[in-house]
Amino acid sequence: MIQTLVSPVTPFRQKLQAPLTKNPITVLQVNLGKRCNLACSHCHVEAGPKRTEELTPEICNQLIELIDRFPQIKIIDLTGGAPEMNYGFKPLVEAARKTNKEVIVRSNLTIYFEPGFEDLPEYFAQHQIRVVASLPCYLEDNVDKMRGNGVYDGSIRAIQWLNRLGYAQDPKLILDLVYNPPLPLSENFSLTPNQVKLEQDYKMFLKEHFDIHFNQLFTITNLPVGRTKFHLQRTKLYAPYVEFLEHNFNASTVEHLMCRDELSIDYLGNVYDCDFNQMENVPAQSRIGETLTVSKLLEAGSLDVIDEIRTASYCYGCTAGCGSSCGGALI
Ligand code: SF4
Ligand code: SF4
Repeated sequence: MIQTLVSPVTPFRQKLQAPLTKNPITVLQVNLGKRCNLACSHCHVEAGPKRTEELTPEICNQLIELIDRFPQIKIIDLTGGAPEMNYGFKPLVEAARKTNKEVIVRSNLTIYFEPGFEDLPEYFAQHQIRVVASLPCYLEDNVDKMRGNGVYDGSIRAIQWLNRLGYAQDPKLILDLVYNPPLPLSENFSLTPNQVKLEQDYKMFLKEHFDIHFNQLFTITNLPVGRTKFHLQRTKLYAPYVEFLEHNFNASTVEHLMCRDELSIDYLGNVYDCDFNQMENVPAQSRIGETLTVSKLLEAGSLDVIDEIRTASYCYGCTAGCGSSCGGALI
């Protein structure tokens, strides 16, 4: 029996009682590809060292044109895989910084110790890139279980390196950390912990043990997509987990959902409402029902061509409790 078919979960769109609409676009999140030096168990992108999909020079040039032509874009958010390993990372950073946009890199930290990537921390500081780095727990065991042996130690050394360059001390050099809860192993689900309280715990522990500093902690709910979805299906927890998320639906998160202000672009130049829709292959649709690409946006001369955001049951992960986004809790 397929669990998703018997789930009594209310369709997300129906729950909202109104279409989820876009605001003017201010954020461009680009997924540069699936290459990554790690292969974490919770990875919604299913990235890893054996993946080869990445941005092409053609799409990279189109993105640079988009960055140049649309001053309404305030933030370029680069993700992957390990974005730094995929084609186009530095050209996109430099195009965005030239037009004074904020650049975010979603970094796994350990990449700085791989041959050929040792210049990254200095490069980040030079271009004042905001680093958002995953450290799913402040305890070594939990991190290594989720991300692989030695990842905790590498992450700590990487944060110390960034701190030495002024990260989390110079106001122009921002370093945020991301907490992901462990994957559920039974129906004893819990909501993502309180972000403010957990940030204090992280700060205290990391300062005391390693003398390291960071700016903010973002707590992110595990959405049932990618490897998390496969894990939930394997353990027969998919339907109960989605029901749990729905049960904790919080309507006041809806106006803050990240999909309202952003476009998410894949390595082929296709456009989505968010990275999760990208991973689940749910493309964004223009108001005339067409799928979109970067070249179509350039042709249209507008980024604001989507009326309704496409939603699915995993959207309950963004609206449960205090809400969740690539920037952490929503309220
Ligand atoms: S979660 Fe991040 S670091 Fe881990 S495999 Fe996926 S992209 Fe790589
Ligand atoms: S997964 Fe979250 S960000 Fe994406 S469309 Fe659904 S609510 Fe919006």
